[in-house]
Amino acid sequence: MRAARHRREVVAHLVSSELVELARDLIRIPSVIRPGDPGATEAGVADYVERWLTKEGFDVEVQPVAPGRPNVLGWLGRPGNGPTLLLEGHTDVVTEGDPATWSHPPFAADVADGRIWGRGAADMKGGLAAAMIAAATIKRSGVTLSGALVVGALVDEEGDMIGARHLCTTSIGRALTAAVICEPEDNELCLEQRGVVWARVTARGRMAHGAMPEAGANPIGALAAVLAGAPQLERRLRALCRRSPHLRPPTVTPTIVRAPLSGVAQANVIPAAAEALLDIRLTAGPDEAAIAAEIDRYCRETAARTPGVTIDWQPVNGYRLATRVERSEPLVKAMVSAVREVTGRAPRFGGVPGSTDGTILRASLGIPIVTCGPGERLIPHQVDEFVAIDQLVEAAKIYVASVLNFLEA
Ligand SMILES: [Zn+2]
Repeated sequence: MRAARHRREVVAHLVSSELVELARDLIRIPSVIRPGDPGATEAGVADYVERWLTKEGFDVEVQPVAPGRPNVLGWLGRPGNGPTLLLEGHTDVVTEGDPATWSHPPFAADVADGRIWGRGAADMKGGLAAAMIAAATIKRSGVTLSGALVVGALVDEEGDMIGARHLCTTSIGRALTAAVICEPEDNELCLEQRGVVWARVTARGRMAHGAMPEAGANPIGALAAVLAGAPQLERRLRALCRRSPHLRPPTVTPTIVRAPLSGVAQANVIPAAAEALLDIRLTAGPDEAAIAAEIDRYCRETAARTPGVTIDWQPVNGYRLATRVERSEPLVKAMVSAVREVTGRAPRFGGVPGSTDGTILRASLGIPIVTCGPGERLIPHQVDEFVAIDQLVEAAKIYVASVLNFLEA
């Protein structure tokens, strides 16, 4: 009981106005990545986070991941010396699209109707600010931790997740024993995330004149069969995967179709090859080999119906398998108690429809991850993105109580 009262005292020192202003500062530094434009990276936000963490007295490491694209990590205690918990956010945001379609300018961070408006408000400068303020609140309280608390602001989550991949190769990454991914999930405790495989399926035939199709083998028909059969592949993958009350079952969604693969497209030329991208989302269960075997079988069977054409496939950026942690994990127990202490109610459990940096941390380091952060689950990447201020503050308080439950000596 004394411990719970003590935690509530620390939580009560969290300054909401400071959190709101920090989130607004981060939103006002645009960090849309435009490949080839050296001015359009996470550098400005990373620099701000580095200066802020340094000013607050954290030990800070800046990890160059790619030109102009550094991870920034700050910590309390000695990472690796006892349990080491990461509060994680990413510094990149997706494009704002056409600013004229926004009710509030996308990088103004306007406050109205109890919300902060702007690109990244939910995904996820709000969550990153909540993690930073939570860590600072704990530092200022002077509590002794039994291990270390790390705050990480990583690059490229919206791309190939090179920031998370890099972190896993560094000594701080290898010291981690658990992570909270502060992505917008309505402050639900998400113990599961769907996995993703981007399958590039290529049909190869023989180039010929469109007026004499008998002289060639048209890969486009074979590719059409691949696309038309997507629901069948989806059913097979669903049969391999475990059901979850918090996640949609596996889906197979064609997103890109291309032919020819080289040379110009011409109306009277049968191309040599055609390809499609299947965005395959999976729940927990099968390993890489089982997934590959099912897609192999599907390609083989489809090719068998189209003489003269072969079909093969490659995963783009490898496999990002679904993640799942058990409720018996110490981190989950710490967060369940934290939600109760902060909100006075039982936690809501949820699931992440896509993958996050946590997917990489779980696969590379084998550590438990819980995704929990402020912002509506469906708002990321939309026009008029916002985060509700009460949810933002609640998230930061949940982080403070979770860290103390997990790490306090
Ligand atoms: Zn995100």
